[in-house]
Amino acid sequence: MYNIDTYGKPRLSSEAALQFPRLVDYISTIGHRHEWNDPQERKPMAMELVQGLEHVVRRDEPLANYSWFRLGGIADYFAEPTNTDELSLLVRRFRAAEMPIRILGGGSNVLISRPIVAGLVIHLATPDLRVAGHSLVAGAGAKLGHVIATAVREGLGGLEALVGIPGTVGGALRRNAASQGNDIGQWTGEVTVMTREGLVEKRNSEQLLFGYGHSNLDEMAILGGRFDLEPGDPSELTRRMQKNWIVKRARQPVGDLGHGRIFADPHGLTASELVEQAGMRNVEQGGARVSDRDANFIVTQPGATSDDILRLIERIREQVTMKLGLELELQLDVWH
Ligand SMILES: Cc1cc2nc3c(=O)[nH]c(=O)nc-3n(C[C@H](O)[C@H](O)[C@H](O)COP(=O)(O)OP(=O)(O)OC[C@H]3O[C@@H](n4cnc5c(N)ncnc54)[C@H](O)[C@@H]3O)c2cc1C
Repeated sequence: MYNIDTYGKPRLSSEAALQFPRLVDYISTIGHRHEWNDPQERKPMAMELVQGLEHVVRRDEPLANYSWFRLGGIADYFAEPTNTDELSLLVRRFRAAEMPIRILGGGSNVLISRPIVAGLVIHLATPDLRVAGHSLVAGAGAKLGHVIATAVREGLGGLEALVGIPGTVGGALRRNAASQGNDIGQWTGEVTVMTREGLVEKRNSEQLLFGYGHSNLDEMAILGGRFDLEPGDPSELTRRMQKNWIVKRARQPVGDLGHGRIFADPHGLTASELVEQAGMRNVEQGGARVSDRDANFIVTQPGATSDDILRLIERIREQVTMKLGLELELQLDVWH
């Protein structure tokens, strides 16, 4: 069912990969099995870590299902807390045990390249959403698309420019999701966070800083945000949202296969144009390829591995530096 590739790693045959796409990255972990036994990486199951939280914590969870690339290793511990008390308890216990903690939202901006993700991965998926006057209050796990559609339906304008950006409110706030000159930060009035000590705190607009591709929300977790919007006519907002959606869909890769946006746009230029000018459009590496629609996206085919994507990213960077004298910065978060 799988062969050993030129790098000495197991790779699913293309026939098997087509049948079992989710297995692809799982199989790729086999070549790294030794890491399971590394005591630094994989501490024994400690009952006190999960006691009372067994209903929200799982062991050895394959992460490919949670990643937009449909790739990813296995989380040592994986939790989907249903409230802030559970989240706080998890944060405090895993921090006390000096185990790493990572947060996962919609998985549209992460490449999970590690075969085993040590410590705890917290998947924030609680989709709370409510309208409060001219504001929308959304939990970190709410899908951005759902938040935008609700705002438009309620006659609240501003966020419709961000339509088509996948992922959750938490992920969008973390890196200040932006499109067509608009960003989520400009509409954010307040954010609730959990600190590394497991405390819930609020950050108001004066404490918040949003820039291109980043924010100062670097606490343990973003729990949700309040977006202060402009009243508008729902029909007009719907028309604007649909127009933005059509433009975005025409430019970006479509289809069910995994894909991701790779580089930040350098000032005044777009990463897509630079990648194209460097002659990298459509270039392939194993099962990964630079998109022909937008050269700032990598699309994957069945059988692709995280290594294919990482090698392709390196090749693109080298070519852009060599031919155009510019350094491209990653926008994608890579979990090495
Ligand atoms: C087809 C496609 C189109 C895209 N178009 C755009 C675009 O136009 N503009 C744009 O800005 N981006 C775009 N992106 C990138 C991506 O969708 C955004 O960055 C998105 O906001 C990520 O949200 P997420 O929930 O998927 O985050 P994830 O991928 O789950 O996480 C991203 C990072 O945020 C952290 N994080 C997630 N949730 C939380 C939380 N609650 N608390 C603390 N940290 C958290 C994670 O640890 C990780 O480091 C696109 C991606 C794809 C695949």
